[in-house]
Amino acid sequence: MLLADARRAVCDYARRMVADGLVVGTSGNVSVRSGDLVAVTPTGVDYADLRAADIPVVDLAGSVVDGDLLPTSELPMHLSVYRDATDPDGKPVGAVVHTHSVHATAVSTVADEVPPIHYIVATIGPSVKVAPYATYGTADLADAMLAALAGRRGCLLANHGTVTYGTTVAEAYHRAQQLDWVCQLWLLAKTAGTPRLLPRTEIDHVADKLRGYGQRP
Ligand SMILES: [Zn+2]
Repeated sequence: MLLADARRAVCDYARRMVADGLVVGTSGNVSVRSGDLVAVTPTGVDYADLRAADIPVVDLAGSVVDGDLLPTSELPMHLSVYRDATDPDGKPVGAVVHTHSVHATAVSTVADEVPPIHYIVATIGPSVKVAPYATYGTADLADAMLAALAGRRGCLLANHGTVTYGTTVAEAYHRAQQLDWVCQLWLLAKTAGTPRLLPRTEIDHVADKLRGYGQRP
């Protein structure tokens, strides 16, 4: 993706995160990769006021190469995904979305894993793991996140929020929405009883089916 398009996409999806209720204020962030550079939401600026030209651009080591604003304090997490996360299907990582969406964050305070309660979990992995808590913006949090992302396209961060990635920002964002939805579903189901879980064989079957989507005439 061209850098100008990446910056515009960061603006658009940052606003959308607020509008869709996945974050409150500027508490979540989004980044989009363009070659060896990453466009990422700035820290401490109302997303409604963002312009594409304001969006900070950093290299994969975190040095700012363009833009007057400081990048999000969660930059170490974003860069760790681009440098070290491996998509289960070997696809390139083009965008990262970090939210504080309420249902997923609620689950992150009571569970170590979101079990396969619904087949849509297969879009992220066999399950969704919860990375142990570490202070925001730290290398410790980035390391804990990477471990929870192994073989998966998203995770929860204990007592904090979510991280999802995708080949495109639309894909990463859609996964963040699905993750919050499935956490909401799990919370609701648990109030009514003990949720029945899908077996690993079915999640693997759905993952195979999903791989075929979009490739048919
Ligand atoms: Zn956060």
